Amino acid sequence: MRQKRAKAYERLMTAYERYFRYRQPYQILIDDAFALNLHRAQLSPQKQCDMVMRSETKIMITQCTMQALYARGPECQPAVDLAKSFERRKCNHRETIPVHECIKSVVGDTNKHRYVIATTNTELRKHLHSIPGIPILHYNRMVIVLEPPSDATSNRIKQIEGEKVSQSVVEKKVLDGQAKEEAGEKPREENSEQPKKKKRKGPKGPNPLAAKKKKPEKSKPQKHDTDKDDKDAPKKKRSRRRNKIGGDSGSADTPTPATA
Ligand SMILES: [Zn+2]
Repeated sequence: MRQKRAKAYERLMTAYERYFRYRQPYQILIDDAFALNLHRAQLSPQKQCDMVMRSETKIMITQCTMQALYARGPECQPAVDLAKSFERRKCNHRETIPVHECIKSVVGDTNKHRYVIATTNTELRKHLHSIPGIPILHYNRMVIVLEPPSDATSNRIKQIEGEKVSQSVVEKKVLDGQAKEEAGEKPREENSEQPKKKKRKGPKGPNPLAAKKKKPEKSKPQKHDTDKDDKDAPKKKRSRRRNKIGGDSGSADTPTPATA
């Protein structure tokens, strides 16, 4: 169960990063009651926050919130001392104002600095729910809980996703239109100019450029002349061999001794 929750928190923070540009280490802006709870818990504040956020975190506190802690009296001094170790967020309220008013003013309309707000105050949480993209932490039985996204946050995410989807739908429609033209609607409209506009034809028939390459064959048929030459050439006279038998007969001519 614990692991499951941790994974859910991780997914949620990934969504805040993706849709609302939160970056690690997350900056956690705490109110005074949260500071007291951080102090009461056994784990160090840093470990508590890092564990729930599944990341490094930076705990921050405004000047007005520090003043509110001081105002709680000596019994809260240990919590004050602890809070002094957190990064001070300058709110520039010369006159200290109520903690939750201070946090509201620091968050503003858009939470420009991407704070994670740590508060158990119902009124402040309600206000923060109206601004899209603010992660909120609160204590529940001494366990820090990351709230599920508010309606404003969920709606904003849907809107962003919707914009992406509608964009891809438009792209798809364009592509579909091209596909239909390629498939068969072309022959119907005899206007020859239209198909030329969409040059993105698929693999349809041989590539005309490749076909053109065959032309050079025409120059070949001239070869017959050389054939003729070849025929003439072999007319070399055969040298006839003479019978040299004549010599022998010559010798036969030699006066034979008359037998008579
Ligand atoms: Zn302030």
